[in-house]
This record gives sequence, structure tokens and C-alpha cells, in this order.
Amino acid sequence: MFWIGYKTHNRVARRTNECSERFAAHALEIPSHHSCDGPLEPTTSTAPYTSLVQLTVLGSNGTYGTPGRPPSGYLVEHNGTHVWMDAGPGTFAALQDQIDPGDLDGIVLTHVHGDHCLDIFGFYHAMRFGRQPGLTFPTYVPEGLEDRLVGFLEGGEPRIRGGHPVSDVLDFQVMGAGSSTRLGPLTLRFAIAEHPVPTLCVRIEADGRSLTFSADTGVGGGLAELAEGTNLLLCEATYQGAGVDKPWPHHLTAGEAGEIARAAGAGALMVTHIWPTLDPSRSVAEAEGTFGRPVALAVPGVSVKV
Ligand SMILES: [Zn+2]
Ligand SMILES: [Zn+2]
Repeated sequence: MFWIGYKTHNRVARRTNECSERFAAHALEIPSHHSCDGPLEPTTSTAPYTSLVQLTVLGSNGTYGTPGRPPSGYLVEHNGTHVWMDAGPGTFAALQDQIDPGDLDGIVLTHVHGDHCLDIFGFYHAMRFGRQPGLTFPTYVPEGLEDRLVGFLEGGEPRIRGGHPVSDVLDFQVMGAGSSTRLGPLTLRFAIAEHPVPTLCVRIEADGRSLTFSADTGVGGGLAELAEGTNLLLCEATYQGAGVDKPWPHHLTAGEAGEIARAAGAGALMVTHIWPTLDPSRSVAEAEGTFGRPVALAVPGVSVKV
């Protein structure tokens, strides 16, 4: 049986603009029409869902932020284990609205593009020079990303443990196609997306539940296999309309996101990374047309339990 529930967080809701609130309301309507293996019920309580994996949207814009809507960033929680999945600009502030960042257990940075990783700099400085020195965070990255980030972050600090200073805070662990790792009760599995730079798709599993995040991808790559049978596919849907009309092939249309979710047998689909000037309600409608079932929209401040 698969349950999914939605709620918004008051601290975030206070900051959302009228537009975001309309999007959230749209997302909140989704579960009442959903049907799959079991009932889906909206919830404002966490009580019945303690064994589930919770996904909170910190940012969901495609490519760049707009007021109240940062680009890619998500908080995944399960039984006290917290993972920050992508660090788009603006999502570190949103993360602090949810948890003390020192309580993070791990970080996933899917790729080097700025809308997915730039806020790792603020996090690094907060942890290195802030009130919680000495904490080290497993940081799962694709090949090549560590060198790019370290180039920005090193600032002549003394080397404490012999490595580069950044490693005192960020314990970079390179993941690739077929890689997996354990983080507390969570299992993280990785695949490589179809994107111009090394890019990780990630599947997070616990207690028989799973959510899979596409990161940025075209229709190829390892996403479809990684997402097979997943309870929730969080999938980029940068563009609208026919795939042949895409201005850039290494992203998906909403319809393509729905096709991938249907082919993978995903229990539910949430679309994200929509180009900021597009009408997201059209993206949802196009994804529903190919998925064949109601589709949710990723909106900052919205949480789902999978
Ligand atoms: Zn992106
Ligand atoms: Zn990208």
C-alpha cells in the first residue's frame, strides 16, 4: 500500500507570494483524485506516517530563481535522518526554515550547474566558521564536481587533517552509474542522467518506500531504469509541448516526464524544474496526459510523505 500526504509549513507559507500560494493550492488538490495501489489522503498530521519518507520542496524553479521560488533544492527526511538534495541558490535559507543545518546527515549535489549547487558555498561557510565547527557531512557528487567546488571554496585556511580545508566540512564521495550507499536507515542509489555534464539521478529508499529524483536529464540516460517501480518520481519538466520542439535536448518536456513515469511504473509523479516563465498548470496537464493519472506540482514549502 502506498500513501502520500501533503502539507505546507507555516514559516514558509508566510513568505510565499500570491503566485506560489496558488501553485501550492493546485498541488494540494492532487491526492484527492489519485488512485493507485492504495488510498492517498491529504494530511496535516504526521502521526500516521512516521515510517514514511518525507520530501519537502525547498526550491523547484528550472534554471533560475524568481521571488519566493528558488531553483532546485529538497529536504528528504526519514526517522530523524535528513538529506539535502541539491543546493540551488536560495535553498540554504529555505533549509534553515525546516531544520538546523547542523542536523543534516548527508548532501546530494546532482551536478555542477549553478541552479543545483551554488548554495553549498553558504552552507560550507556557515558550518566551517559558524557555531558548529567540527561537523563533517557526507556529500555525494558526480565525477569532477569536487574539484570545481573546492576551487571556489578554498581561501588559504590552514589544513586541519591534511586534506584540503573544504574536506573538514564536506566529505565528498563520488557516485556514478550503479553506485549505492547507506545513510542511516536510507539507501541511496545512483544513475547517470543524460545531461551535458556528469549528472546524478538518485533513488532514496527506506522501509520499502522510495522516491526517485531525475535531476536534469533528457529522455536517455539511466533515469528510467533507476525509477522502475518507485513510489514517487520527482521529475524535471523544463519545457512544454512536443519533444521535437525542445530548445535544448538535455531536458524534458512535461509530456516526456509523464511518459517516463508511466513506463517506469511509478506510483505517483511530481513535476519540477519548470522553466520560470511557463504556466505550471499547463505543465501538469501535459504530464497528466501521458502519465494517465493526476500529477503533483513541486512548490516551495510543500511536503509529501511517500
Ligand atoms: Zn537545472
Ligand atoms: Zn543542469
